[in-house]
Amino acid sequence: MNDTVLVTGGAGYIGSHTTLALLEANYDVVVLDNLSNSSAESLRRVAQICGRKPEFVQGDIRDTTLLNDLFSRRTFTAVLHFAGLKAVGESVRKPMDYYDNNVVGSMCLCQAMARAEVFWLAFSSSATVYGEPTRMPICEDYPTNMPTNPYGRSKLMVERMLSDLCASDARWSIALLRYFNPIGAHSSGMIGEDPNGIPNNLLPYISQVAIGKIEQLPVYGGDYPTIDGTGVRDYIHVQDLADGHLKALHGIRSRSGVHIWNLGTGIGYSVLQMIHAFEQASGRPVPYQLVPRRAGDIAECWADPGKAARELGWQARRGLQEMMQDTWRWQSANPQGYAH
Ligand code: NAD
Ligand code: UDP
Repeated sequence: MNDTVLVTGGAGYIGSHTTLALLEANYDVVVLDNLSNSSAESLRRVAQICGRKPEFVQGDIRDTTLLNDLFSRRTFTAVLHFAGLKAVGESVRKPMDYYDNNVVGSMCLCQAMARAEVFWLAFSSSATVYGEPTRMPICEDYPTNMPTNPYGRSKLMVERMLSDLCASDARWSIALLRYFNPIGAHSSGMIGEDPNGIPNNLLPYISQVAIGKIEQLPVYGGDYPTIDGTGVRDYIHVQDLADGHLKALHGIRSRSGVHIWNLGTGIGYSVLQMIHAFEQASGRPVPYQLVPRRAGDIAECWADPGKAARELGWQARRGLQEMMQDTWRWQSANPQGYAH
């Protein structure tokens, strides 16, 4: 019998790509998602790509009754926990929504897991927990006491809660996966990132400019102490990230306690480098305008991914060109995202 994995937030951007990778690796998958930022169409497409379907349960991770029913109906080997809210700006305006969804939601999930005696968990954390780093690249032991916004603080709170949980009970084995900047789409062009409204993140914004939905890209800050004055980030292909979750699943099976792994490439690119690479991959111009810095942004941020390489045997394999080509394939084949 195959192992069954519960994927919270599995209809979303990273969750859908990871669900696909799990199905392709012969896991059975149950997706729990309230569709607050996604569409069940992503899962229909996952099934089209791989010929296997995840079970889909529409519901909220804060719904204890639903969780208890789900855990008593199915036997799970592990939980991959993607569900949560992720927009930094919105978290400043609505902090309680973020603490409720991300922190209370994670607590409800862990309580239900403990009742069902499921103790293997991988949590979607973020490089944002490192706050404003002063040296590069960032290793996992870099201090994490100063995230710059409520979203980042909600991620850090969950990390600390999960660490306390592991310290209290040796049956738990938990991966805290700190993602850098996920971009790209599945190479089929059938699933990808489909943000609601005007995108917050750079790549969806660039692709919507290239497709003509938005006139020009605001480049937030041209006066950072970086290679060309624009912000530098470690962009990682979402399929590499999905592979990282499969490796982390193996990793937590053979270890107990809490384990932190950066999932990044170790390479930083500036906003202008990203624009030019996208123009090359798409053959479309991306008009942009330099505007003042965005509040809360840092100058540069890239990972030391060595710990995941040593301990999990994982490293990102896809380069910038592939990330851009895959983004463009998804965007040009689905100009309205999953809407039709
Ligand atoms: P996403 O919004 O596409 O996916 C999150 C999914 O969770 C959505 O399908 C949403 O409907 C669902 N969801 C939200 N709240 C829920 C709740 N209370 N109950 C059930 N389902 C709920 O986001 P994503 O980019 O795929 O991110 C996945 C995870 O990775 C998030 O936790 C995010 O914070 C984290 N992360 C994302 C990035 C990034 O840049 N995309 C970077 C670092 C960390
Ligand atoms: N950025 C930009 N214009 C945009 C969105 C983002 O110039 O419309 C820049 C942002 O300032 C940062 C980089 O692109 O330097 C990545 O931003 P994103 O929001 O994608 O990720 P973050 O690293 O902030 O989580």
